[in-house]
Amino acid sequence: MNIILLGPPGAGKGTQARFLVEEHGMVQLSTGDMLRAAKESGTKMGDIVADVMARGALVTDDIVIGLIREQLNTVKANGFIFDGFPRTLAQADALTNLLAVEGEMLDAVIEMEVDDEALVARITARSTCGDCGEVYNDNTKPQPADGKCSNCGASDFRRRADDNEDSLRTRLMEYYKKTSPLIGYYYAKGMLTKINGLGEIDEVKAAIDKALS
Ligand code: AMP
Repeated sequence: MNIILLGPPGAGKGTQARFLVEEHGMVQLSTGDMLRAAKESGTKMGDIVADVMARGALVTDDIVIGLIREQLNTVKANGFIFDGFPRTLAQADALTNLLAVEGEMLDAVIEMEVDDEALVARITARSTCGDCGEVYNDNTKPQPADGKCSNCGASDFRRRADDNEDSLRTRLMEYYKKTSPLIGYYYAKGMLTKINGLGEIDEVKAAIDKALS
């Protein structure tokens, strides 16, 4: 099964993708993670995207489509979870074509609905374990007092450079202008399921499992 988790920044796409990876052996393809890795590796592409990402704008379709193409060419999986991709209609069309080349198709699109106020609160309180990706929230799931990740024991907590109010405002604007049209696009294809992304993590997880079963 190949699915898209669609939703604004902070909707919980990464958190839920991790559950699907753990429980269903699917492979998460997060263009945000790929771009952050490129940024840290100091490649030419990393330098190009660093400034765009820091501002919260979208990097070009060509770059992210290229990243996804490379993954689909090389990784074999029991289903892909597209997290943060597609973000534009051009990316959505490209994904359909890339999957067709691999003899695959898209099975479902889960739209995670969360209101803006909750998004700002979530994102400005967010940190992750740099080692395993476990997500923490200063209010609802603080980093353990012993300074060690509860999942893997590492002590490398990170906050994203673009998790600040200025860049978040741009990221939200980009979402509404360029990504939210995908909701209508996939609805028209009969692929869209909306779920409430505001609940507890377990409730959201249950809603996604139900939508996929
Ligand atoms: P994310 O981790 O999904 O929130 O993405 C972080 C940043 O990476 C975004 O704010 C964009 O600058 C960039 N990015 C990630 N995925 C895409 C995409 N599919 N298209 C364009 N830019 C992207």
